[in-house]
Amino acid sequence: MTDSGETSRREARFSSLVETLKARGLRMTPQRLGILRALVMHPDHPSAEKLYQGLASEYPTMSLATVYKTIAMLKQAGEVLELEFSGRDNRFDGFNPRPHAHLICAGCGQILDPPMPNLGRIMETLAEKTGYDVISHRLDFYGLCPDCRDAS
Ligand code: ZN
Ligand code: MN
Repeated sequence: MTDSGETSRREARFSSLVETLKARGLRMTPQRLGILRALVMHPDHPSAEKLYQGLASEYPTMSLATVYKTIAMLKQAGEVLELEFSGRDNRFDGFNPRPHAHLICAGCGQILDPPMPNLGRIMETLAEKTGYDVISHRLDFYGLCPDCRDAS
């Protein structure tokens, strides 16, 4: 489902992310670059385990700990969004680290970034009505993806 426009946006994000991290003095080893690239280019929101499984053949000496350490570095830099779940693996968005809505398949666990053009307005209204300075949110929609729906 990844169109070429999205692929080039992911490529651009990968390049700027690497530049940002280098500018902070972080060392970019081949394994780290491989992990960053896999994370940013991934069309879903992978778990650390899933990233590791996808990279193991290309980087036979890579450990799961290296994947976790690289993700921790990204979290420190504010360059990855972590979606925490109770009872299942946390998932990561390295393409868009800012808070945004997610659409989650309750069948296969696929996670998408749905278009939510009104979300900014909703947050403004919330701030106006409550007096809060609204700084973040966690908004998950659950459903069945077309494949899971057809199979059920
Ligand atoms: Zn599904
Ligand atoms: Mn996302």
